Amino acid sequence: MQAKQDNVVSIHYVLRDTDGEIIDQSAEGQPLNYLHGHGNIVPGLEKAIEGHGEGDEVKATIEPEEAYGPHREDLIQKVSKDAFQGVDELAPGMSFRAESDAGPMIVTVKEVEENEVTVDGNHVLAGQTLDFTVNVAAVREASAEELEHGHVHDGSTHE
Ligand SMILES: [Zn+2]
Repeated sequence: MQAKQDNVVSIHYVLRDTDGEIIDQSAEGQPLNYLHGHGNIVPGLEKAIEGHGEGDEVKATIEPEEAYGPHREDLIQKVSKDAFQGVDELAPGMSFRAESDAGPMIVTVKEVEENEVTVDGNHVLAGQTLDFTVNVAAVREASAEELEHGHVHDGSTHE
């Protein structure tokens, strides 16, 4: 069976940046399961895996436009420290869920000043070219329920 629309694909992956440093990888013996064609993974990776089957190795270099998007300066903003009431020690690198015009988003604290905090709403991998090495572990048909939900049910917690 091949990876195509509405199939559940299990992959082992290693993600490197353009310097060859590993940014992320699937856990040993625990492939990532995703529902193909439903935006569960970045578009460029889905395209690269399309048509491949169990045992195939796929190497793909994916530009930001097909990954987590370009880095946007307008997503870096200064907000009042009052917005962080209840947070004991505000420090760069901390991330928070925030409401925005475009819905909920994760922001990362860049800088903490006397009264203001600079936050960055860009995905940590925005603007980065991603170098994936993928091994396809399995491909199966999705259940009707998985298709209805738009994601895989693999026995782990479900929201
Ligand atoms: Zn579900």
